Amino acid sequence: MGENITLPKVTKEFLREHGIRIKKRLGQNFLIDEGILNRIVEVANLSKDDIVIEIGPGMGTLTKKLAEKVKKVLAIEIDENLVKLLKETLKSYSNIEIIHADILKINLKRLVTQLSSYPVIQLKEQANWQTGKLANKVKVVANLPYYITTPIIIHLLKAREILSNIVIMVQKEVGRRMVAKPRTKDYGALSLLVQYYTRPQITVKVPRSAFLPEPEVDSCVVDLEVREKPAVEVKDEELFFKVVRAAFEQRRKTLKNALSQTKDLRLSKKKVLEILEKADVKPLRRGETLSLEEFARLSNLIAGE
Ligand code: SAM
Repeated sequence: MGENITLPKVTKEFLREHGIRIKKRLGQNFLIDEGILNRIVEVANLSKDDIVIEIGPGMGTLTKKLAEKVKKVLAIEIDENLVKLLKETLKSYSNIEIIHADILKINLKRLVTQLSSYPVIQLKEQANWQTGKLANKVKVVANLPYYITTPIIIHLLKAREILSNIVIMVQKEVGRRMVAKPRTKDYGALSLLVQYYTRPQITVKVPRSAFLPEPEVDSCVVDLEVREKPAVEVKDEELFFKVVRAAFEQRRKTLKNALSQTKDLRLSKKKVLEILEKADVKPLRRGETLSLEEFARLSNLIAGE
């Protein structure tokens, strides 16, 4: 499958020759460091049973490496010019499907369930899907377009039941926020969202020189291992995230003020004080000091009101 094909090296000359203009607004920074590409594939720990979703295949450098390891790659690219190029350069790979779409508009669960009609996907998966359990869940592996990192993570987490791992290149600071612990400057709503649903780990540090064109920031690869069930028990997830957002909206506010001044929650100061006492959380503490467990306790008490 495609063994004789060598993909063009992504260089400025190559881009010029093919009339490809880099679109900054689409977050197009192509990964040109072979060593880093190999490390991403290594971190993703792929096998021949795996189905991989790649967001933004770009010139297909990572796509090709993924396809050599797995059963199927679904590569979703928004840029029509790149889609045309990919369909040409990757045509000998029967296990790569190039999908011209905006990742944020794709229903990933539907996309994967429809796969059962492809000969390459075995019935085993289809059967297990119907019982709600995919034998081999899908992995996401991608060098993300940074301008929509958080919307993509939220979109992926909504489809978490079909995903086992999300291995993504993100801006270094965003990676740090994902793994941050309480009482650090990086700890915030993103840390809680990611740690509630997954076990995040920074796996590869990537300098800006690994990309063409060079972005203005350094990057890292994070591996989000999707949890079978969330890290803590929460009665009302929507309310839980409202509480988290309220606590971090103005980081320097005490919880007493942050929670009572948020219109979203509609709680009087008196009520907030009562709840904080029941949750054993001091009212003068700030959101950034609260653990996932404490946020869960707090929101479960509010839910019971
Ligand atoms: N995978 C390639 C690599 O590593 O060299 C390209 C990565 S580049 C950082 C991000 C890619 O995402 C670009 O190809 C860009 O066109 C694509 N992209 C941007 N917004 C997108 C969206 N909403 N849906 C799908 N792809 C998108």
